Amino acid sequence: MDQDQPCPCGSGTGYAKCCGPLHAGATAPSPEALMRSRFSAFVLKDATYLLKSWHPETRPGELDLSDAPDWTTLQVISSDQSGDTGTVHFRAIFREQGQWGYLEEASTFLKRDGRWLYHRGTPQQGVLKPGRNDRCPCGSGRKYKACCLNSAGQ
Ligand SMILES: [Zn+2]
Ligand SMILES: [Zn+2]
Repeated sequence: MDQDQPCPCGSGTGYAKCCGPLHAGATAPSPEALMRSRFSAFVLKDATYLLKSWHPETRPGELDLSDAPDWTTLQVISSDQSGDTGTVHFRAIFREQGQWGYLEEASTFLKRDGRWLYHRGTPQQGVLKPGRNDRCPCGSGRKYKACCLNSAGQ
């Protein structure tokens, strides 16, 4: 990952000032920051980071990202924190075999030894059907019709 690139989490900040330091071992200042860094890790297929930021109670033994879809954009709908518990409600957009889909989840995060960790959440998945004048789900900021619509292989 080029450190000067915009961060994959869509914060509008460069990777080096956003999720990059967390991937390199810095402590996440909030559940939302951890959530963003985990989304970026999914984009970058960094399974080691995903496991490290997962609460040991719910952490899987291993994580195989080889079949994972192409995650394109993250929308944080709300985030909240009280004491050592945090909740982040988000929607993550992905592309798989020419189709757009989304995963929506209200995730719980717990602080353990001073570090936020992903605990659990119940994801809901659906198909995304962007309108021609909607913002392109690839995160470019352009309208769908002026962006990926014509390259979708339809
Ligand atoms: Zn980021
Ligand atoms: Zn696009």
